[in-house]
Amino acid sequence: MKQRKAIPVFTYLIILAVIFTLVSGLISNLNQGPAYSDVVHLFEKEQVKSFTVSGDTIILNLHNPYKGETEVSAKMADADAFRREMWDLIQSQQAAGILESYDFAVEKAFSVYDLILPLLIVGLVLMILWFMLAGRANQANSMNNFGKARTVLGVPDGAKVTFDDVAGADEEKQELAEVVDFLRDPKKYTQIGARIPHGILLVGPPGTGKTLLARAVAGEADVQFLSLSGSDFMELYVGVGASRVRDLFAQAKKIAPAIIFIDEIDAVGRKRGTGMGGGHDEREQTLNQLLVEMDGFGRTEGVIVLAATNRADILDPALLRPGRFDRQIYVGRPDVKGRTEILKVHAKNKRLDEQVNLKTVARATPGFTGADLSNLLNEAAIMAARDNRQALSMADINEAMMKITAGPAKRSHVRQRQDLKTTAIHEAGHAVAMYFLPTASPVQHVTIVPRGQSLGSTWSLPKDDSANMTRNEMYEQIVGLLGGRVAEALYVGDISVGASNDIERATKLARDMVARYGMCERLGTVSYLDGGEVFIGRDYQTTKSYSEKVAATIDDEVKVLIDKAYDHCKQLLADNSDAFQKVVDYLLENESMTGKQFAACMAGQTIEDGSDTMLLDDLAEQTEE
Ligand code: ADP
Ligand code: MG
Ligand code: ZN
Repeated sequence: MKQRKAIPVFTYLIILAVIFTLVSGLISNLNQGPAYSDVVHLFEKEQVKSFTVSGDTIILNLHNPYKGETEVSAKMADADAFRREMWDLIQSQQAAGILESYDFAVEKAFSVYDLILPLLIVGLVLMILWFMLAGRANQANSMNNFGKARTVLGVPDGAKVTFDDVAGADEEKQELAEVVDFLRDPKKYTQIGARIPHGILLVGPPGTGKTLLARAVAGEADVQFLSLSGSDFMELYVGVGASRVRDLFAQAKKIAPAIIFIDEIDAVGRKRGTGMGGGHDEREQTLNQLLVEMDGFGRTEGVIVLAATNRADILDPALLRPGRFDRQIYVGRPDVKGRTEILKVHAKNKRLDEQVNLKTVARATPGFTGADLSNLLNEAAIMAARDNRQALSMADINEAMMKITAGPAKRSHVRQRQDLKTTAIHEAGHAVAMYFLPTASPVQHVTIVPRGQSLGSTWSLPKDDSANMTRNEMYEQIVGLLGGRVAEALYVGDISVGASNDIERATKLARDMVARYGMCERLGTVSYLDGGEVFIGRDYQTTKSYSEKVAATIDDEVKVLIDKAYDHCKQLLADNSDAFQKVVDYLLENESMTGKQFAACMAGQTIEDGSDTMLLDDLAEQTEE
């Protein structure tokens, strides 16, 4: 298909080039010699000795050279008009002996272009017609292949991936290993009457390695692997998706045992009948066909469907019922151990400094997915290469991490002293407030170097990986978030928009506590906010499931909670104004401070000069134990 397309484009280019040369030839031809008005002028100045007109060309023989030539030729638009206009002049000049002879030739001068041009035009038209017809035929040809599934057979991208390349996801690999084993030796399972699931759905946030796992299954099982992305079913023409599904399963049955892998299945498997954007007939037909096919093949056929999505919540329930995708494997964000292993996998082909401690990096990156970690090391490697260093260091990883999470540092940014002071006070407010909150994560880094959209930042890292949060932890988080604004109010005397993101986050947290997690006495243990974000195409028309009265109470309680946190924070900062002032001074002097320096400052000790303030440095010491 692709090759056929390339030929016409090339030919059109040639045709264009031919036309171009012709036209430019004609134009340069016209440009030779004087213009018509100059010819008239030459006559008037009695310069013409003799002339010949043939066709639209006039050749003049001159008494004196015109632009260095005594014989010049010019094109004329209308030879008859020339004859009429100039007749009297010609007669009189001949009588006076200035013009010796002249000739109005009847025959037209022969020009190559006169002959070739019409031929070329005819040829061109014929060629264009021919290409159009050929194009039609091509299209008709490809129409026949239209309903065929465009599958990738074997391992996509060529590179063979095995379970060893997938780090950390031990439980997930365990479950998939079963599938691999079944495909290798189905008898072992069928003999005792065990039933291997038809379809397995890999669910999890983007970048956690779902596609990678599927490819690893293909690499491990020595079976055929048909892979296809959900959007491949979709086409402009109705019915194509359904016939592609049919074809996909027909292919798989032919080459069984086989694995069908449908990546990003939410593109086809979205809930039917949500009415968003008008009923999407094509998608519904495709989904229906998929449901039929998944029912249709028997268990002995040795075809297993693997699918991946990060939006299991919008999938049609019919897809998830037993017999179809009856097993879901949740591929979550990796924990510290998983992250360490993933980092090791990705560090394999990179040159690392001896000091680099991947365990420390893993500790500092809670919430990072496999893709994030791979990206982190890559960014660090790019930085090392950019500075012509042989190996990437902890400092590179540190900078890469901050760059990824907050944007590159803007050191060239010129800022006013007052601006810096406000930022220092703001950040010190966060840091000092957090220092005095028992459940808050230890501060690891405070800086007034702007990054991305923020003017400064305070970094803290949780002591452990725990995902659960208590009411007190959430409340103290709000207090810490308000630290910046409270400090501004206390020590600048005015407040700035620098705190807008903090306030947003604090408000959201407070709202969740009150209305989602049932953490407020007045409203009781009732969840008024459901699910999470509103997804397009799902529950779009969700109406508030609570009364106006409750809504007012929620708003009230949120405000009460925030006010309480604000006063708490104000108390903390006012009580510790000396320590606070020291942090501000240090920041104005040095721009950044490490967690260790900050802790020393708060404890009233002398602050050691760590010339390079690094987030990961402090952590490294903690990991040593
Ligand atoms: P998704 O879950 O969005 O399909 P991918 O499987 O495409 O994510 O993962 C993206 C990249 O992240 C992979 O190519 C790989 O480099 C990296 N990655 C993700 N998870 C892991 C893991 N567990 N081990 C090693 N690399 C991983
Ligand atoms: Mg993927
Ligand atoms: Zn802030």
